[in-house]
Amino acid sequence: MAWFAREKPGVEGTAESEKRVRTEGLWLKCESCGQIIWKKTLDENMQVCPKCEHHFRLDARARLAMLFDDGGYEELDSRLISTDPLHFEDSKTYSARLEAMRASTGISDALISGEGKLEGRRVQICAMELKFIGGSMGAVVGEKITRAIERGLNKREPVIIVSASGGARMQEGAISLMQLAKISAALMRLDEARVPYISVMTDPTTGGVTASFAMLGDLNIAEPGALIGFAGPRVIEQTIRQKLPQGFQTSEFLLEHGFLDAVVKRSEMKSYIARSLSFFCD
Ligand SMILES: [Zn+2]
Repeated sequence: MAWFAREKPGVEGTAESEKRVRTEGLWLKCESCGQIIWKKTLDENMQVCPKCEHHFRLDARARLAMLFDDGGYEELDSRLISTDPLHFEDSKTYSARLEAMRASTGISDALISGEGKLEGRRVQICAMELKFIGGSMGAVVGEKITRAIERGLNKREPVIIVSASGGARMQEGAISLMQLAKISAALMRLDEARVPYISVMTDPTTGGVTASFAMLGDLNIAEPGALIGFAGPRVIEQTIRQKLPQGFQTSEFLLEHGFLDAVVKRSEMKSYIARSLSFFCD
């Protein structure tokens, strides 16, 4: 022990600050009920608050691990990266931003695509990663989703897309908007072949993602309390000059108004999807 760590002598407050550093990040406050939760409890509970069932955001890797049997799947198209077709530059160049994002998240773009089994049935699952430039959809996300749909079509395996996105990727301009048409066309071929597609919306699902594949499922389901919409509430209020109703753009509001088929808790998501696929396929 002695040569691995030692107390720095003579400086008052050191031990106290070290203690603080060591406990930092072990606890967090629930943004919904205000309860202090041990992070480990949250990890064991699939990032759902044990007190109030508030669904914290889940990253793409954890999402796939949760849905695939034994957390195992084969990742596909993981080497696709954006070519920065517009040579876009804001506060820094888009290519530098992508590089930094790839380094910090360890994935090539805002979506992970995998194939494997869900309760014994072969499926294609795509999960969006919000931490990668706000889960925005550019050419890579569009291409990965389209390839997953085409694999589903060729192998006759159901497709599940878990959305978490701020919408189209502004740094790819019109090219990101073209993905809406490309994915929608692929989904139409899947539909014609009668292979099911389930859309799972999580917090937040907005913009071009809502306006295309997120709302095109044979089944459109969402996690509780997720923000789902096209434009944000402020923009809508300014446009229509009216106050929006309580709970506007939440999963529950959308379900009540017929935009969703179900609101499904995270703990029940996998079995719900499995049951639905049995209904569609068997
Ligand atoms: Zn809570």
